[in-house]
Amino acid sequence: MSERPAANCCERSVEQVLTGLLPGSTTAPVQCTVCERQFQDGADLVVYAQRCVDGGVWELPRVYCRSCFAGVEPTLGVWEAVVTARLGSMLIPTGRTHRPCLTEVGVRTLSGPSEG
Ligand SMILES: [Zn+2]
Repeated sequence: MSERPAANCCERSVEQVLTGLLPGSTTAPVQCTVCERQFQDGADLVVYAQRCVDGGVWELPRVYCRSCFAGVEPTLGVWEAVVTARLGSMLIPTGRTHRPCLTEVGVRTLSGPSEG
C-alpha cells in the first residue's frame, strides 16, 4: 500500500471536520472513557479521533476529561488525531431539539497511517 504524502492537502482541516461532530451515540450522554463522568455543555474535553485510510470518515471512539487523558498508543494503518474541544450544542432543525457537538476544536497531535 502506498501512502500519498499529501493526503490531506485537498481536504478540510481536521479542526473543521471534527467541529460539530458528536462523540458517541445521539441518545447517550457524552461520558469520559476513564472516570465515566457525564459532560455538560461547555465542558473541556480531550477527544481521540480515528479515520481509516480509505474510509474517509472520522470516528470518535473515546472522549476524556482533560485530567484523565494520559496519551494514546499510535496505531498503524489509520489516521489518528487527539484534539481538545469544548462541548457545545447544536440545534437539530427537524427535531426542534439540541444535541451535543464539538466546538472550539484544536488539534494536539495528528499521526498518519505509517506512524505506528
Ligand atoms: Zn474523566
